[in-house]
This record gives sequence, C-alpha cells and structure tokens, in this order.
Amino acid sequence: MSGPDPLSVLAADAAALRASSRKQRTPPPPPENEPQLYEKRRGVYPQKVQGPFRRFKWLVMFVTLGIYYITPWIRWDRGPYAPDQAVLVDLAHRRFYMFGIEIWPHEFYFVAGMLIMAGIGLFLVTSAVGRAWCGYSCPQTVWTDLFQHVDRLIDGDRNAQIRLANGPWTAEKIAKRAVKWTIYLVISFWTGGAWIMYFADAPTLTRDFWAGDAAPVAYATVAILTATTFTLGGFMREQVCIYMCPWPRIQTAMLDEKSLIVTYKDWRGEPRGSVKKAAKDPGAFGDCIDCNQCVAVCPTGIDIREGPQIGCITCALCIDACDRVMGEIGRPRGLIDYATLDDCKREAAGETPRPAWKTLLRPRTIVYFLAWCGIGLGLLFLLGARTRTDISVAPDRNPPFMLLSDGSVRNAYTIKLRNMESRPRDMAITIDGVRGAMMWTDEMDRADAARSLTLTVPADATQPLRLYVVAPRDTPAQAITFAVRSLDERGERDSSETRFEAPEVNP
Ligand code: SF4
Ligand code: SF4
Repeated sequence: MSGPDPLSVLAADAAALRASSRKQRTPPPPPENEPQLYEKRRGVYPQKVQGPFRRFKWLVMFVTLGIYYITPWIRWDRGPYAPDQAVLVDLAHRRFYMFGIEIWPHEFYFVAGMLIMAGIGLFLVTSAVGRAWCGYSCPQTVWTDLFQHVDRLIDGDRNAQIRLANGPWTAEKIAKRAVKWTIYLVISFWTGGAWIMYFADAPTLTRDFWAGDAAPVAYATVAILTATTFTLGGFMREQVCIYMCPWPRIQTAMLDEKSLIVTYKDWRGEPRGSVKKAAKDPGAFGDCIDCNQCVAVCPTGIDIREGPQIGCITCALCIDACDRVMGEIGRPRGLIDYATLDDCKREAAGETPRPAWKTLLRPRTIVYFLAWCGIGLGLLFLLGARTRTDISVAPDRNPPFMLLSDGSVRNAYTIKLRNMESRPRDMAITIDGVRGAMMWTDEMDRADAARSLTLTVPADATQPLRLYVVAPRDTPAQAITFAVRSLDERGERDSSETRFEAPEVNP
C-alpha cells in the first residue's frame, strides 16, 4: 500500500501553518464600549457671551493684536546713521533695535536675559493666577478667538453654526464658507505680512513686497505664516491647545492647590436639577440647573463641571455664562469661579475663603517675583553702565613676531574698534606697557609710528584695523594693553590686554 505523497503532506502542513498564523495576526474586534486611543473630534461652536471676563478678553485681544500689527510702523529718531524704526531686528547689520535700546551681537546676553525674564514671568503668572497666559494672551488663543468672532459674524451664533455645519452643501452654505475662509485668509496674510515688518524698514519693505522686489525669504515667510495661521487658528483651534502644545503639561506641573484656577463648586451645584424640579422639591437640588450654558460658551468645548482638566485654558468665559444664569434665576453668583483648591475645600466645609492677596502673596510667587525683578534690575544696570566704545585685539599667531633688520621686534595685531553711537566719532588708541614701543597701521608710514593714534570710526560700525607694534632690540615678551578713548564729550574708554611676543633674551 502506498502512503500519502510526503510533498503534498508538507504542502498541506505549510498551508495550515500559514492559515493559523494569519488568524493570530488578525486582531480581535474591539469589545463594545472599550475606550479608544484617539477620540473623534467634536465640533466646537462657542456661544456668544457677555460679562467682565469677556470684556477683559476683548481688551487683551485689542492690545495684543494692536501691539503686533502696529509696532513695526512706529518711528524712532536715532539720527541720520541708524534706522528710524522703533522695533527692528536688523539681520543684515546684526542689530536689534527696541526704541532707545540697541543691542549688538556681542551683547546677546541682553536678549538671553529678556527671554529668561519672559520664562520666569510665565512661571510667576501661572503660579499666581493659573493658565492666564493660555486663556488671554497666547497667540493661539487670541487668533482663535478672532476667527470665532468671524464665524459668528458670517454664520450666526452657536445654533446657526451647528445647523450650517450639519446641513447639506447648499448655495448659501458654499457662499458663507467662501466669505468666511476669505476673511480667514486676509487675517492670516496680514498676520504673516506684519511679522516680516519686524525685520526690515516697514514702509520700504511694503513697497518692495507689492512691487515684487522683496527678498524671496520675505515671500516664503509670509506664505508659511499665512498657511499656519489659517490652519491653526481657523481650523485646528482647541486641538492645538489640547494635543499639540506642550505648555499645558508643563503648567499643570507648576500648579498646586494654592493656584487660582477656574473651578465648578460641586458641593454647591450638585445634584443638578432644573428650576421647575427645584421648585417642586425644595432642598433636593443644588444650584446648577443643568442649562449647559457653561459648556456652550467654552472655546475648547469642555464641561468644567467634570473637574479641572487639561483642556481648560482658564479663560473664565464659563464664569460669565454661569453668573448670568445665576443672576437670572436669583441665586448667588460664583457657582463657577476663580478659586484655589484649598479655598474650595474651605468653602465646602462652610469656612470663608482666604482674601485674594493671600492667594497671590505666597513663598513661590514671591521667589519668582524677586528672581524676575533681580534679572530685570541687573539688565537695567548693565544697560546704563555699558559704554558705546569697544576695542578687541587679536595678535597674529603665525609668526608671533618678526625680527627687523635693525634688530627691533615687530608684532602684528588685528584690532576691532566699535563705535556704538549713531554718529562718526574720533577715537584715540594708545599703547600701555612695552617700553619704547611704537605703532602704525596699513594706511600709515612706519616713519609716522607713535604710541598714540587717532582714527575716525564711522557711525554705528565696527572698524577693523591692522596694527603693527615695534619695540627696541632685546625687548622681552610681556603683556601689552591697547586702550581706546572716544574724543568727544563722553570720553568713553575701553581696553584690551594681550601679549607682545619676542625672542628669548639671554641673561
Ligand atoms: S452654566 Fe451654571 S447652572 Fe448652567 S449648567 Fe453650567 S454650572 Fe450649571
Ligand atoms: S472651562 Fe471655562 S475657563 Fe475653561 S476653557 Fe472652558 S470656558 Fe474657559
């Protein structure tokens, strides 16, 4: 009797193996109601709201947008040799101008100091009043708020927006979307356009831009910023705050139970019940009538009644909404309020919350404030004490010296004289040390060598200079100092020490 063909047995085994491994690779269907890793985006259509926090938000929006768009157009007279734009990052000449302050590349520590101050300022604000930066002045918040007002202007308030978003693409919807997105684009383009004005003379750059004569990088920057503003402010909105921005995670680590946050006072609000139900059964319900107004006005679409959460940017619009509801139904305001978790516990236990100044004045905020002031004062001192005259010296290394035919020793140096005033100035360079040494430059005859030279340094410029110093035969190697003094009413001085090299002198 012949058995089964071994090859066909092997093939059958291999097919069975493949089928079983396929089976193992196919993931089982997710059980119903299992939480998903990625939540589907829910549309957020914040409702118009009135109240003190909304008014404050308007104020911050006008001020921040005003500063951003208008600043490059402010003029500041610095004389004929410097640009007259009040705030300018002059990359070509490596200068940063801010009103009366001019920062040179070697003074970058001022910029670093200002950035550190901004960081500490953010820590200070967060530890004192929670995520106020996110809620009021973060560019993402400000532009999103602006675009949401455009939505209301074109589509109507929340309900009209929801109806339009869920409705079919009718002619009206297409027209409204076209108008709205065009306004988004104009705002975004204006935003990108304003940014490049900080890097060149604004009126000149505007003319060049529209004439097609601006640098390609200007067009590329405007295009990129237009696209990002249009996308992040017009469409991604709260998604940026909740998922993309790292700052909420950092801020959460800086908050503690003594930081002010927007809180729903559940001990007062729960259990929720409508006014009708509460009238029927007095004492059975809390103050929250479950009207959902706090959720409807929220720009990130969250429900603050679920507790503190990363999606809350502390804009306090829900406080405005709830206070209005409480006012209308004759219940005390403050069901949603700025409060610390400590005060919430106190209030829940029937105690009175601490006064606001105690919330703000605590060791952490005081330390941040002192650090912030200390750096600020240090920068102001450095700013006031700095001179507008500077010298730096680099000796030639190869060869370090030359022996001239008469036995004297010559060293060569590259000098940089800096005149940080916006006018040309005469400056005197002098040699300190090295007895009998004389100097001259490429533009001079050696016969005119002297221990002191006078030069004119152009306005707002660094003047490079080749300088030769010759000392008598047998002068030993030693330190040499080059001193500079401005020959004007300020008489500013600076000096730089280096080496005068010479052959070893035999005793
Ligand atoms: S607005 Fe106030 S009353 Fe209305 S649901 Fe929110 S917390 Fe409750
Ligand atoms: S929950 Fe209130 S404070 Fe937080 S983002 Fe929404 S509206 Fe603003």
